[in-house]
Amino acid sequence: MKAMVLNRLRTPLAWTELPEPQPGADQIRVRVLACGVCRTDLHVVDGDLPDPRLPIIPGHEIVGRIDALGTSVRGLDVGERVGIPWLGHTDGTCPYCLMQRENLCDNPLFTGYTRNGGYATATVADARFAFPLGESGSDIAVAPLLCAGLIGWRSLVIAGEARKIGLYGFGAAAHILAQVAKWQGREVYAFTRPEDVQTQGFARSLGAAWAGGSDQLPPEPLDAAIIFAPVGALVPAALRAVRKGGRVVCAGIHMSDIPAFPYSILWEERELLSVANLTRRDGLDFLRIAPQVGMDVRTTVYPLRAANEALADLRAGRFEGAAVLVP
Ligand SMILES: [Zn+2]
Ligand SMILES: [Zn+2]
Repeated sequence: MKAMVLNRLRTPLAWTELPEPQPGADQIRVRVLACGVCRTDLHVVDGDLPDPRLPIIPGHEIVGRIDALGTSVRGLDVGERVGIPWLGHTDGTCPYCLMQRENLCDNPLFTGYTRNGGYATATVADARFAFPLGESGSDIAVAPLLCAGLIGWRSLVIAGEARKIGLYGFGAAAHILAQVAKWQGREVYAFTRPEDVQTQGFARSLGAAWAGGSDQLPPEPLDAAIIFAPVGALVPAALRAVRKGGRVVCAGIHMSDIPAFPYSILWEERELLSVANLTRRDGLDFLRIAPQVGMDVRTTVYPLRAANEALADLRAGRFEGAAVLVP
């Protein structure tokens, strides 16, 4: 098979010919049809995350078709279209798994970070963590749902009953979540880099009630805000934008340091919390509602071999929505 491999941190991925992976007893082998490019992939390449496993094939928004089954796999068939997300394996026995919080498992494997991912023509995955996708939606449009959509969904659930909801950073995740939130009857307030009027227009075109720079306050205080951009300075900005009792959710896996801020912007029972990873329940819930939303998933497609260009364009904010690699 062919893959784009990260051999050393902070170097370009290398186009590599590798032996065909063989599925273990609990695993499936999948022909990759499309793989989304997530900001977390940049954090993997940049060495922002602890204990990287190298060499590694990045990519954890995988849409593929099963072409081989391990001997113990039940409930999946050869030829079936599946999605492979970030959560690649859990032990099922640690205190977090036992309290239904497998997203916090003590011994997890993460696709494209600590086990090989989807920047490849094929991959193997733990069958229990793959989602059957059915045939509705194109491979390219479904791929970004598997992390941007799914972790965004978990963040939205954790944000609670908020009617007025702010989204800081309007990239792949927010452009999906804005549509889900609007479909649920919420009002979306989109915050972009100051002066990025193009992305603000993009947010309005997807139904945002208001769009502005992250240095601005919304016209009215928000019930909750979700921060997708990896920028610590957005934490005090979002706390200032939410009402008394409002909640600020940090959705990313990595963020620059949070600057000191006065206690008064947290006081009055405002809440600040983070979202880590996903549970299989999140995936099943989100993939069930996603087709009902009638989402416009905006994608920019790159051939697999151009993964480095896709990552560079993501870093520079050169496209709207999500980048997707196609083998
Ligand atoms: Zn566990
Ligand atoms: Zn991701």
